[in-house]
Amino acid sequence: MSANGFKVHIPLQRVEECYTCKKKDEKLSFCSKCWNRVYCSPGCQTSDWKEGGHKKECIKVQTVDVEIIYPFLASLCYLCRSLSITKPHPGLTHRITNSPNPGVTLPEPIPGSNDSEDQAMIVRLDAPVSPQILATPTWWPTALSEKVRNKMRRRITFDGFDFHLHWVVCFALIDAFYTEQKIRLKYKSHPIADFGLAHGKFRVTCQDRLAYVLPDGTVQRGQDPDDHWWIYFTTMKGEELILDFGVYTWNMAMFVGTEPYVREPLVMAPAVFFNRMLNKNVPNITTQLYTEKERFSVLKDKDMASAILDYPQLFKAMPLCFKWAEDKLKRKLNAEEKEFLPHWIRFMFMRVGDAMNEEQWKTWPEIPPQGIDIDPNESLRTR
Ligand SMILES: [Zn+2]
Ligand SMILES: [Zn+2]
Repeated sequence: MSANGFKVHIPLQRVEECYTCKKKDEKLSFCSKCWNRVYCSPGCQTSDWKEGGHKKECIKVQTVDVEIIYPFLASLCYLCRSLSITKPHPGLTHRITNSPNPGVTLPEPIPGSNDSEDQAMIVRLDAPVSPQILATPTWWPTALSEKVRNKMRRRITFDGFDFHLHWVVCFALIDAFYTEQKIRLKYKSHPIADFGLAHGKFRVTCQDRLAYVLPDGTVQRGQDPDDHWWIYFTTMKGEELILDFGVYTWNMAMFVGTEPYVREPLVMAPAVFFNRMLNKNVPNITTQLYTEKERFSVLKDKDMASAILDYPQLFKAMPLCFKWAEDKLKRKLNAEEKEFLPHWIRFMFMRVGDAMNEEQWKTWPEIPPQGIDIDPNESLRTR
């Protein structure tokens, strides 16, 4: 129990042996009420229920599939970005003077880099523009089409903050699912045993990277694919899943429709869930795209557990949260990050908490509305 009275209930970690007879078996089944015990046979379950005392401690939990809620989380990430606490991206506040048209223009070496292989699509910026003309021909006159121009606007909008967003999502999931004994995350028929942040490389071609040259000649690199963060989930069966809201800016432009999940008129939010079906349809897709270097459980982290407080006290936990982030990022947070993170955390806690309390997930589609934003020549290119 943490000092503030909240306890994080860590789920079972591995389905390995029958709770009663300790037999190791491939086909163990859960107590369908609490999901906290596994048995090899109805006999073992009955004996634990009657003689083992499970009857007294078994509490009914609701289970929510990650597949059902991830588009909601993706929508909230988009909303976090639009809370306008962060400094606007220079690509969205200046005119684009060159033609970084995907599939047509070739990537170039990033100015100032010593490595000639260090290439990206260069976006050259000059005069400031008002938000009203964003995504109009005045903002980017030489875009091949309106579709290309709109997609570029989205790619710039979704540039950066992959650590922050994924972390805030994990943190809010603990608050909504694991501080009380009544609701749990699952994937298909198995409870989630762990989740948190994974860190490493995402495979991106130079063609799919962006770098910006500001009016004063300063170069701002887009999100770094060698320093990427995403969410991992592990089920009690040991199945691994990846949830990533941060790859759209690299042209991995899968998205979900936001209409069933939030009232705000977002239309779409970037999200890739490497679920069982995607892993089966494109064999080895995750190992081809991701090289994981390290992972940090958020669910099982003691500091995260003690940082869970009711708002408005949540702000008291910020020093602990900042320290956690700085440990993982191996750098100090800057003033901007310290400014927006508390707002993002509070926003995410509120919205995820409300959605679970109001059981909104019961109205969400079993198969999320998905799409891919393909460039005109993309089918000709190989990733
Ligand atoms: Zn047994
Ligand atoms: Zn039970």
